[in-house]
Amino acid sequence: MQKQLPITTYGMDILRKVTKPVKEIDGEIFELVNNMLYTLRNADGIGLAAPQVNKNVSVAVIDISPVEEYKNYDPVILINPVVLENHGEVVLNEGCLSIPEVRGDVLRPEKILLKYFDMNMKEHTGEFEGLPARVMQHEIDHLNGKLFIDYLNEDDIKRNKDLLKKIRKGKIETDYPLYDPKENILN
Ligand code: ZN
Repeated sequence: MQKQLPITTYGMDILRKVTKPVKEIDGEIFELVNNMLYTLRNADGIGLAAPQVNKNVSVAVIDISPVEEYKNYDPVILINPVVLENHGEVVLNEGCLSIPEVRGDVLRPEKILLKYFDMNMKEHTGEFEGLPARVMQHEIDHLNGKLFIDYLNEDDIKRNKDLLKKIRKGKIETDYPLYDPKENILN
């Protein structure tokens, strides 16, 4: 049975922490990954990192199949991912389930060489480009306490200032459930 997990939002400490590496795929990690995939699908997102569901571990899930061009692309589960190399630069518009409604152009490497582990703790090294590479970099940033708005220029920040303030104060509504610190104990 899969559970929809509430999403943590901009301003919460968990989103600024560097995550702990996964040592083994135990029942807890297995359940977390399954719930994250379910949560991602139900929130109409394309990538989700564990801090966004209030877990301080190096786990991210990516499912870009809602994007027409990538509809046959299988979900990817990244355990302890590390970017080994990057090449080129490209600007793409980004958003984030933890920073609802805020959008902005972000310059990032175009191609990456990525090392990660799968659900059997088998190590993989792979080259990625295009949208997969972009989403992976966004999610890996989450695992290092970084957010896409950290890259925005002053104009973009100014344009989104009121919205960011609203999110920090918890005064934002979304189609998916948000994490309420008053109802949950941080771990
Ligand atoms: Zn995000």
